[in-house]
Amino acid sequence: MKTENIRKDFPILIRKINGKRLVYLDSAATSQKPISVINAVKDFYENHNSNIHRSVYKLAEEATEIYENARRTVAEFIGAKTEEIIFVRNTTEALNLLAYAWAMRNIQKGDEVLITEMEHHSNILPWQMVCKAKGARLVYANIRNFVLDMKDFKNKLTKRTKLVSVTHSSNVLGTINDVKAIGRLAHDAGAVFVVDGAQAVPHMKVDVKDIDADFYAFSGHKMLGPHIGVLYGKKHILDKMEPFLRGGSMIKDVTQQDAVWNDVPWKFEAGTPMIAEAAGLGEAVKYLNALGMDNVRKHEIQLTEYCLKRMKEVAGIDVYGPESGRGGVISFNLGKVHPHDVSAILDNDGVCIRGGHHCAKPLMHALGVDAVSRASVYIYSDRDDIDVFIKALGKANEKLGD
Ligand code: PMP
Repeated sequence: MKTENIRKDFPILIRKINGKRLVYLDSAATSQKPISVINAVKDFYENHNSNIHRSVYKLAEEATEIYENARRTVAEFIGAKTEEIIFVRNTTEALNLLAYAWAMRNIQKGDEVLITEMEHHSNILPWQMVCKAKGARLVYANIRNFVLDMKDFKNKLTKRTKLVSVTHSSNVLGTINDVKAIGRLAHDAGAVFVVDGAQAVPHMKVDVKDIDADFYAFSGHKMLGPHIGVLYGKKHILDKMEPFLRGGSMIKDVTQQDAVWNDVPWKFEAGTPMIAEAAGLGEAVKYLNALGMDNVRKHEIQLTEYCLKRMKEVAGIDVYGPESGRGGVISFNLGKVHPHDVSAILDNDGVCIRGGHHCAKPLMHALGVDAVSRASVYIYSDRDDIDVFIKALGKANEKLGD
C-alpha cells in the first residue's frame, strides 16, 4: 500500500493550514474523502437525482438501483445478507433504533444491560433511557490496564443480562475487544449481543457472521464515506421487531386505523433516505476493497507503532492505551496542560488533533482524568504526519509546560 499514491486521491490533503501542510490526525472523528466518493455524490445529483422506490420512470429506477446496489456492496463488505443492512444517519441513530425498537419492547423490570467502561456515549445513553423506563439495571464491566477485564465481565454476565453491548474498538484507548469471544459468552447467557463498530469497520476486516453479532452498528463518514450510517441485524430478529420510525416507504398497506409493515430492511427506513450518501458509501467500500482491508490494518499497525515509539521522546507525556492489539487511536496528556490548549498550539503547525472527553465521560472517570488529547491515523496518514506532530508536541511542551 503506497501512501503517497493514496494521498493523491484526497483533494483536501493539498490544503494548507496557517501556511503549513495539513496534518490531519483526527480520522477517528471523521475520515477525509477520496475523489471517487466525492464524484459519486456529485454524479448522483448531476445525473440521477430523483426519489427512490415509489416510481416507475427511468430516473427513479436509476436512483433506486444506485441506492440498493450500495446496500449490496456494504452487505458483502461485512459478510451480511443484503436485507440485513439498514441505512441510518450514523452509529448513534443505529443504537437508538435498537433501544426503541428492540430494547424498549424486550427489556423488563429487573433485567440487566451489560456494557463496558470504555463505551462512547452513543452506546451508553440509549441503554440508560431503556433501563430507567423499564426499571432495569445498566451494568458496566471494568477496564484494567486499558483493556476489558474479562473476569469482571464474566462475573457481571448473569441470568438477568438480556442485552450485552460492547464497542469493537475504543475511540479513546484504541483497544480492540475480542468481540467474537464476548459474543459467545453473551449468547451462552441467553443475551442479545450488540457491537458498536464505529471504530472497527473502517480499519479492519469485519465479518458479522463470524463474530455472530445479533446487531452491529457503524458510521460511513469514518470510513471514507458521506454522512450515513449502517445497522446490521440478523434477519430473523429484524423480522420480529416493530419499526422505529413510522411514515412513508415502510408500509405494505395502510387503512384508517392500521398498517402492515414493509419487509426488512425497508420496514426500518421510513421517509426519503440518504440516497446520494448511500451512493458515496458504496464507492467508499469499493475504495477500501481495492486497497484490501488486511493492508489497511497493516498500515495502521505500522504507523501506530512508529507514533507510539516517537511519543516516548516527548517529556512528561502520559499515553492511555495498550502497547499492542490496538487501533490507530492514540490518547495522551502532556502533564497538566489542558488538551484544548494542546490542540490550539498544534493547530498553528497545521496539525489537527482532538482534545476533550471524546463522548466517553464514564471512561474519563475510570482513567481519573477530565479530558485527553487524541491523535488518530488512517490510510492517508504517513510518517511525515507523525514527525510534524511530534515536533509540534515538543513546541507545545516548551510553551505550556509548567
Ligand atoms: N461509537 C464510537 C466508538 C465512536 O467512536 C463514535 C464516533 N466518535 C460513535 C459511536 C458515534 O458515531 P456517530 O457520531 O457517527 O454517530
